[in-house]
Amino acid sequence: MNDNTFEKSRLTLLGLGVMGTALARAWLAAGHPLTVWNRTAGRADPLAAEGAMVAGTAAEAVAASDLVVICLLDDASVGEALADADLTGKDLVNLTTGTPAQARARAEWAEKRGARLLDGGIMAVPPMIGAPGSGGYVFYSGSRALFDAHHDTLAVPAGTTYVGEDPGFAALHDVALLSAMTGMFAGISHAFALVRKEDVALKDFAPLLVGWLTAMAPYAYGITGHLESGDYTEGVVSNLAMMVEGNATLLRTAEEQGVSAELLTPFTALMERRLADGHGDEDTTGVIDLLTR
Ligand code: NDP
Repeated sequence: MNDNTFEKSRLTLLGLGVMGTALARAWLAAGHPLTVWNRTAGRADPLAAEGAMVAGTAAEAVAASDLVVICLLDDASVGEALADADLTGKDLVNLTTGTPAQARARAEWAEKRGARLLDGGIMAVPPMIGAPGSGGYVFYSGSRALFDAHHDTLAVPAGTTYVGEDPGFAALHDVALLSAMTGMFAGISHAFALVRKEDVALKDFAPLLVGWLTAMAPYAYGITGHLESGDYTEGVVSNLAMMVEGNATLLRTAEEQGVSAELLTPFTALMERRLADGHGDEDTTGVIDLLTR
């Protein structure tokens, strides 16, 4: 790493897919000396024109800098790309999406090869990279000292949120948020399926949907309180008995509108099970107990 505070730190980036290219452009724009490598060499050409140094192999790219950022397709491609590289003394920052277990195993793998590894989970799409104010950020986990040492460089493309020494925690937070988003996308799909054939202006409906989801999102704080205290009835204003009754209306409306209820039924079935177990005075926190194996 470059210790001269007047110069920007040198780094290497492996992977010039859509995300890797956005990251590269952010570091180049901020004046960081950047070496890049991509399996398909042609993808580096536009970046070479923008000032990046292009390495012919991943091993050469790793040798060029002490800090090596990796943004490849998946965990297997990381192992493949770095099979022949000398990682001794390198600081690796792996922004490739993976599972918590993969991140922990990759950290051990790096340590055995003489490197330190920080794992990252990118909470942004490429247009949010290098765009201050876009809300994009990256979860980081692993050594706090390693994170602090490279913070200024890592903060160039997007915000940084450090979530703990356990190398699996960035992936855990990343996947937990993406999983919640998947449920939200399912709900949005069902809502549009209900209204699309009616005389409803979709452009008027969309802000109502966004406003409602935004208003309901703090429900997560109530769940946090329940899980922390162990009392799932605390502060409940919409109880499970009432909600299960309401679900019947959701399912009947889907039927009337000719819409499959397949996105609703997995969750409504879990709510019914929890109610049948005698928890009608809770809200939906108890569903989490049913999910946890
Ligand atoms: P792309 O599909 O655009 O790029 C994939 C990259 O991985 C390319 O550089 C590709 O090289 C490389 N690659 C694939 N397999 C191998 C291999 N076996 N050996 C070496 N290189 C390989 O994906 P993105 O850039 O969009 O995504 C990269 C990472 O960023 C992923 O883990 C993704 O989950 C994550 N991410 C992406 C987001 C997005 O919106 N795009 C959002 C958040 C995270 P080649 O050009 O040769 O095929």
